[in-house]
Amino acid sequence: MTTHHPDLSTLMSYSAGSLPDAVATVVAAHLSVCSRCRQHVQEAEQVGIRLLEELEPATLSAHAKDDILALLDKTERAAADSREEQNIPNDSDVPPLLRPVLGYYLDDLHWKYMAPGLKQFILPAFGSNLRLLKIAPGTCMPSHGHTGSELTMVLRGSYTDELGRFCAGDVADLDPDVQHQPVADTDEHCICLIATDAPLRFNGLVPRLLQPFFQI
Ligand SMILES: [Zn+2]
Repeated sequence: MTTHHPDLSTLMSYSAGSLPDAVATVVAAHLSVCSRCRQHVQEAEQVGIRLLEELEPATLSAHAKDDILALLDKTERAAADSREEQNIPNDSDVPPLLRPVLGYYLDDLHWKYMAPGLKQFILPAFGSNLRLLKIAPGTCMPSHGHTGSELTMVLRGSYTDELGRFCAGDVADLDPDVQHQPVADTDEHCICLIATDAPLRFNGLVPRLLQPFFQI
């Protein structure tokens, strides 16, 4: 059960296809575990479809319609075939849409040391806008604000900050004005998927000095 969700405005932007790739990826990872947000996105899509329907319809020839239907059929069959062929392990802890780039297990990633109790893995396909953080039990992150927005989804474990406790599946949708200091809960490592659209703003001198080296 997830208790923290993306803002409705974030879900609307997702359904309109107007989110940056890194942010859209975190939303999609959350949708794969949250039926409540899937419902919201579906409703937003329905609104979009109704708006489209009010536009002047373009006429398609019967031939073009057949071509499009055949193409959709083929795409659906190819997707079903590849699902069967892939033989996906059912204990994978990686969100389905990230398995092509991350593999099936978070523990198998080449985590890069950042600070005591803190490791990160940057997803190169997204520049430095999408990363995974692995925080040791009980580790206190440096207090920071944001120059842009930050969308974080917990994949494993949990953390607590000024906004509450965030467990696997939960999303923190943070505006630029939010200042927070997450602390990983003590029972296990906390692994988060984090999209940022601008660098973080650290309060302490040491984190600020290290910032350029870690691309955060
Ligand atoms: Zn949700």
